[in-house]
Amino acid sequence: MVLKLYNTMSGKKEEFEILDISDPFKTEKSKKDWVGFYGCGPTVYWYQHIGNLRRYIFEDILYRALVFNGYNVKHIINVTDVGHLTSDQDEGEDKMEVSARKEKKSAQKIAKHYFNAFEKDLEKLNFKKPDVWAWATDHIKEQIELIKILEEKGYTYFTSDGIYFDTSKLDDYGKLANIDVEELEAGKRICMGEKRNKTDFALWKFSKEPGKRQQEWNPKEIVSGLSDSWAIGYPGWHIECSAMSSKYLGERFEIHTGGIDHIQVHHTNEIAQAESAYGKKPWVRYWLHSGHLRLKEGKLSKSEGGIITLSELQEKGYSPMEFKYLCLTTHYRKPLIFSFENLDASKNAYKRLKENLLTIQDENKNDGVINEGYLKKFQEAINDDLNLPEAIQVLWNLVRDEKAKGKYQTIKKMDEVFALGLLSSQGEESVPEEIQDMLKEREAARKEKDFEKADKLRDEIQARGYKIIDTSEGPKLRKI
Ligand code: AMP
Ligand code: ZN
Repeated sequence: MVLKLYNTMSGKKEEFEILDISDPFKTEKSKKDWVGFYGCGPTVYWYQHIGNLRRYIFEDILYRALVFNGYNVKHIINVTDVGHLTSDQDEGEDKMEVSARKEKKSAQKIAKHYFNAFEKDLEKLNFKKPDVWAWATDHIKEQIELIKILEEKGYTYFTSDGIYFDTSKLDDYGKLANIDVEELEAGKRICMGEKRNKTDFALWKFSKEPGKRQQEWNPKEIVSGLSDSWAIGYPGWHIECSAMSSKYLGERFEIHTGGIDHIQVHHTNEIAQAESAYGKKPWVRYWLHSGHLRLKEGKLSKSEGGIITLSELQEKGYSPMEFKYLCLTTHYRKPLIFSFENLDASKNAYKRLKENLLTIQDENKNDGVINEGYLKKFQEAINDDLNLPEAIQVLWNLVRDEKAKGKYQTIKKMDEVFALGLLSSQGEESVPEEIQDMLKEREAARKEKDFEKADKLRDEIQARGYKIIDTSEGPKLRKI
C-alpha cells in the first residue's frame, strides 16, 4: 500500500519513495534501504509548551508510520542551543544568552536543564528517541565549513556585524513559501542594517564585544583557510540545520519537518544554503509541516508568557495520553484550538477506550489473529497523509464491532503507530492504596456471600472515582 504525504514544496499529496541515489556514506546498506528524516527541534532556553509538543507528536507519528510501512528510518532532530535570535530578521539577542542572564546560569546549564525537561515530556508521550539529537554547539566546525563553501562559491558578503547570504544570487529563492521577492523588496519596511536584500540572512554573527557573550568561537582556530574578515562570533540559526542534516543524512535526503512557522524564513533559508553549497536539487524531497496549537484567546507563545506545559496539565489532572489523544483527533496540518472543554472530551473518550480495551484484553488476548479488514482500513487512513482522526475512528469501529475477531492483536498493531499505551496500564494514574484495600474487602465479602456489604463497597469505590471491572485475572480498578 502506498504512503502518501503532503509535500509543502509541491502543495500536493505525493506518493512516498526513497530517493534513488548511491549511499552517501558508503555503508554496506544501499541508500534504497533507508529513509533520511530530519526534524527541526527545540530551542532550549525555556520549557516546551503543549504547542511545541503537538509538533513532536506529529514527528513521532510520521516516524512510526514509516516504520509501519516497512521502512528503515534514520531520524535526526536538532537541538538549538545557540544563535536563535529573538527576531527572525537577524536582530535582537540570542535567546540562550537572554535566558542565561535572567536565570544567572551558564548557557550550557540552561540548555541541559530545559532539554532534560523536554525529554521527560517526550517519554511521557511515548516518543521514540531519534537516532541522533544533534546539538548546534557540538557542530560549530561543520557549520563554519559549510559557510566557507558558500563563501568560496560567491554566495556571501561581509557586513560590520557578520557574514550574510546574498539571496539575490538565487532565482528560485523562496520557492517553499512562494515568496515574491520583488514584492517584498518594493515594500521594504524591515530594518535592513547593512543587508543588501531584504531576504538576506546571517550565516555567522560577529560578537559585538568579544569576551562578553557566553557562547562564542574563534572560527580561525577551528577551520583553516578562512578569509581575513572572519571574526569571533557564533552561527546564525539556519546554518545548523543545513550542516547537521547533511552530516548525518547526506547531501540529499527524503524528509524534513517542522512547524508551519518555519516555512517562510527558517526552511526557506536552509534550502538556499544547502542547495547552493551542495549544488544538488532538490536538497530535500518531501517537506512536511505541522499546524499550530492555539488557545481560543489566541497564540500560545513562550515569549508572551502564555505557556502551558505538560506538567501543568498533569497537575490539573490530565494524563499525557489524554493530551496526545486530543492531538490525534485533529489532522496534523490543521490548527488545533486548545481548550479545557476539548481536553475534557478527549479525557473521557480515552478513558472509555481504555475501559473497552480492558475487556478486549481479557477476552481476546489469545485468539491470535490479526483482523486484516480493520488493519487495512487503518493503514489506508495512516497512509493518506497521516489521517489520524480517521485511524482513531477505525479503532473505535473495531472496538465496538461485537463480531470482529482478532481485536487484541489488531489493536496492538495499530498502537505501534498511535503509541497511546492502549493495551498497557501506562497513561493511568496508579490507584490509591485505600481504594485497593476497599476492593480487597469487597472481594472478601463476596466470598463470604455478604452481597449487601460487597455492593456497598462497590458503590463507595465508584463514588471515589473508580470502576470495578471483572476480568479472568480477577477484578481490576479503572478511574472513571
Ligand atoms: P522552538 O523551541 O520555539 O524553536 O519551537 C519548537 C517547535 O515547536 C518548532 O518546530 C515550532 O514550529 C513548533 N511550535 C512553536 N509554537 C507552536 C505552536 N503553538 N503549536 C505547534 N507547534 C509550535
Ligand atoms: Zn531547522
